[in-house]
Amino acid sequence: MYKHLPDFGISNKILLVEDDPSYVRLVEIMLEQSDLGECEITNVSTLADGLKALKEGNYAAILLDLNLPDSTGFETLETFLTHYPNNNIIVLTGASDKYLGLKAVKAGAQDYLEKGEFDFPQLAKSLRFSIERSNILSRLEDAQRIAKIGHWECRLNKEFFFASNEVYRIFNLDPVEAKFVYADLKNPENPLHVLIQMEEEAKLLGISKREERIVIRNGSTRFISLTCKATRNSLGHYHFNGILQDITEQKRAEEMRNARDLAQESAKIKEQVIANVSHEMRTPMNAILGMTNLLLPMVKEKEEYEYVYSIKQSSEVLLGIINDILHVSAYQNNEIHFSSNAFNLTTVMQDLMEAMRPKAQEKKLDFDLFLPSGLHQQIIGDKLRLNQILYNLVGNAIKFTDKGGVKVKIEILRQTIDFLELRFSIKDSGIGIPDSELESIFETFTRISRKDRVTEGTGLGLAITKKIIEQQGGKIQVVSQLGSGSVFYFDLMFELAPETQLKNKPYKENNSAKDSSTLSFSVLIVEDHKMNQLVIQRTLEKHWKNVKVIVTSNGDEAIEVLEKQSVDIILMDLQMPIRDGFETTNYIRKNMPVQIAQTPILAMTAHHMISQQEKFSRYGLDDYVLKPFDPEQLFEKIEFHLARKALKNA
Ligand code: ADP
Repeated sequence: MYKHLPDFGISNKILLVEDDPSYVRLVEIMLEQSDLGECEITNVSTLADGLKALKEGNYAAILLDLNLPDSTGFETLETFLTHYPNNNIIVLTGASDKYLGLKAVKAGAQDYLEKGEFDFPQLAKSLRFSIERSNILSRLEDAQRIAKIGHWECRLNKEFFFASNEVYRIFNLDPVEAKFVYADLKNPENPLHVLIQMEEEAKLLGISKREERIVIRNGSTRFISLTCKATRNSLGHYHFNGILQDITEQKRAEEMRNARDLAQESAKIKEQVIANVSHEMRTPMNAILGMTNLLLPMVKEKEEYEYVYSIKQSSEVLLGIINDILHVSAYQNNEIHFSSNAFNLTTVMQDLMEAMRPKAQEKKLDFDLFLPSGLHQQIIGDKLRLNQILYNLVGNAIKFTDKGGVKVKIEILRQTIDFLELRFSIKDSGIGIPDSELESIFETFTRISRKDRVTEGTGLGLAITKKIIEQQGGKIQVVSQLGSGSVFYFDLMFELAPETQLKNKPYKENNSAKDSSTLSFSVLIVEDHKMNQLVIQRTLEKHWKNVKVIVTSNGDEAIEVLEKQSVDIILMDLQMPIRDGFETTNYIRKNMPVQIAQTPILAMTAHHMISQQEKFSRYGLDDYVLKPFDPEQLFEKIEFHLARKALKNA
């Protein structure tokens, strides 16, 4: 049955500690005749030789005669158990020493056999158990080694200490060499001294747990987790059981995870701070730009006009930078949504060229647009984002070109009945980009420093452009030669629009023919920022002679006003103390008389993503105007909503 023992450290060797040769021979004969298979028997005749043999070899069982030349009686067993508590000891007693056998089993021997009394089956049965047990212990050791968990136990009254081999291995000690006894642990220099500390804690708490950082013999560090449980027997003696696990790998992985989380967290905080600061900057920018717009037509002197005009221009540049930063953080958080409306591609391209031409002319550059013949004019997509991409690439091309020119070109890559795939390319004869920088220019905040140029810009434009293109399924590429120029090109797909979808210019249509400056209506401004109150009020009053403007600084004040009188339209700041714009709108819609509850409400906000917020429509806002506001857009939106209201009431 045991002839083919599996090969994982399991032994079928038997140590026979017996000084009487006749018994030795008897046992040998019995084993030869038993069905135990090939057992290898090693015979020693003294206690000292027995201990030595155990130190050197691995035995499935020990047949131990208690009366040896160098030790007699129960002491023989105790000595063996103290040194090798996990070995399978079958005690051989004389017929008169039966009580000793029972005592031996109680103390930790596996079995006892009375000399002269036992027969083949009895011996075989006992040994079979031993081999089985040894087998299980060997598997347990394998499991401990794989899991890097060791166990140990200690009985204080007997100064008994045992630790599994894995405990020693975790401390980088040789299990056979080290084999500490309890007295060794008391030495503070002993690597396992920590177990004594664990015991002291466990005495107080019942169970003690801790994690330790240890330096092992080769100087490297390991992290171990220790648990020790204390129990007491009826006599009050302590018995400790503990486990010890090498958690170095988990700890390192955890450390790396923490470091990564921290890095991500701080990157997020950095982005958030930048986004918040930029956002906060838009409110004062609103005042600066608004006031400049108001001031400009009033200035008569040429020199003064130039000063005010350059304030306006610089403010617009600053606003562009702030917007870029806000865009980047929005793109990085994937907060961008694309609209799809029909628009005329040729018009978009021509408008772009007209807007950029003055810049090109200033630098005496050629500036040309090439459109393919047969280009389908009406396409569906996000016109604003396409403009954003093109303004950025064309702007860069002009910025980095000093002679020659810039060519903007569209090619048709593919066209089906429904779709059109276009390649847009922007070619310049400018300073070019070094090969080593071709990849990194698309990363945020990358600007190439050039010896002979002041570096302008934030280094965000291309990062934003790339994101917008990629999020629409396209790809941007660049080919460049230092000193000769660059070509940036990207491909995008568009749906072809049916003719009817084109008529979506709501604001101008109703009123474009009429002169609206004589419109007479009342508007309630709800805005906490004093300068902005003034800018909006003056802008409206300048545009409409007959407008009645009521200014309030928060939601409560606005509600108070509305309780006394109705207005034609409300301009609502969203971020306000006391009652913010959302709550105020909600209150007006839900709790005020119908006539007031239906007043058009336009949000005034610096959040360019506001209309995508679920709160926006839920609270009943009709529309929004971005801060810093474009006066023309504000006028258009007010007129549109007044006209709509008039239509509803008619
Ligand atoms: P910025 O807003 O600073 O222009 P971009 O992200 O748009 O940032 O561009 C990053 C860098 O790439 C620029 O600083 C410039 O060095 C380089 N670059 C972009 N376009 C061109 C171009 N057409 N010719 C030469 N260099 C360019």
